[in-house]
Amino acid sequence: MISEKMYELGSKRSVIRELFEFGKKRAAEIGAENVFDFSIGNPNVPAPEAVKKAIIEILEQENPVNVHGYTSAQGDAEVRKTLAESINKRFGTNFGADNLYMTLGAAASISACFLALANPGDEFITFAPYFPEYRCFVEAAGGKLIVVPAQIENFQIDFNEFEKRINEKTKAVIINTPNNPSGVVYTEETIVKLTDLLKEKEKQYGHAIYLISDEPYREVAYDVNVPYVTKYYNDTFVCYSYSKSLSLPGERIGYIVVPDEMEDSKRVYAAVCGAGRALGYVCAPSLFQKVVAKCAGQTSDISIYRKNRDLLYDGLIKLGYKCVKPEGAFYLFPQSLEPDAYAFCERAKKHNLLIVPGDDFGCPGHVRISYCVKTEQIVKSLPAFEKLAQEYK
Ligand code: PLP
Repeated sequence: MISEKMYELGSKRSVIRELFEFGKKRAAEIGAENVFDFSIGNPNVPAPEAVKKAIIEILEQENPVNVHGYTSAQGDAEVRKTLAESINKRFGTNFGADNLYMTLGAAASISACFLALANPGDEFITFAPYFPEYRCFVEAAGGKLIVVPAQIENFQIDFNEFEKRINEKTKAVIINTPNNPSGVVYTEETIVKLTDLLKEKEKQYGHAIYLISDEPYREVAYDVNVPYVTKYYNDTFVCYSYSKSLSLPGERIGYIVVPDEMEDSKRVYAAVCGAGRALGYVCAPSLFQKVVAKCAGQTSDISIYRKNRDLLYDGLIKLGYKCVKPEGAFYLFPQSLEPDAYAFCERAKKHNLLIVPGDDFGCPGHVRISYCVKTEQIVKSLPAFEKLAQEYK
């Protein structure tokens, strides 16, 4: 007998996958240039030259046995030290190598945190719209995901709804800012309000409530401050990834920060190591640990995403679509033009526009448009968005 739960996870195709397959079929029929695929969040901006240079230098100059060998489970100590220093320089923090645990990207970072924390009956709260994989990761760790409904005027946190859901079973709260799918960055005011409330609840319930900050889009932000959450709240895990910042999603590399100020910090760090062990991660890819250390502080050319955001946002607003202006990540999350976002996305497909219903992100009545695509695709797609809007007039 196999695990029915795992069978279900592995055999159910996601809406995004379905769209991707549809897009391939349609491209064969009418040419790829006539299909406007806005479904997947795969960075289209290449990794910076510094990445290529770092790979070549490491391969040419370092001992291949070390380059390709196992590192210690938490990652190479020199790499962790370099990355900690880079974080400290940027955010005024005080981390050392022993506060970092190298991972296989943000997905691995958050799943390791969930597994490190969850005991039977524990609840993990997140805010819609949210990354759908949270449910799968939290449940695999034995926890229960609780979703706070979206505050659709601005996609900041609805604190009334949050207060209805937080209780003594709450083990952790997960935030993702800049956000997939809304592109919204939580303001400092939101972070202060959230962390003040968590401090109050920690006192009231007499135990730690951890804050897990899922940050693969930290560097993809347009002229706004993305508050560094450990500075506001001691019990914070930072789950970082180079998938988007250096356009390295296939290389699987990132880290978790466990600050010294966290309650029981040493035991928590050991539990993160234990979670990585139980998940069979062994260690993060050795070559890419060295590469990201050499490229510390660098990013891909984010200005391309900003140009795409401006073109698409301004274009859709002119056509009458309603959308909160995103300040980061590479997604737009407008309202669908009919209450049923699935029906709206089906109509969009007739115009060869591949966009994703918001229901899976916990936010019905909205659609996600992933604009990490060639700028020409956006320009060419606007008449199709116009025709689609006209169908509703
Ligand atoms: N968290 C969010 C909000 C994401 O959008 C993604 C990927 O798109 C991830 C985590 C996983 O990122 P990674 O490729 O670093 O595992």
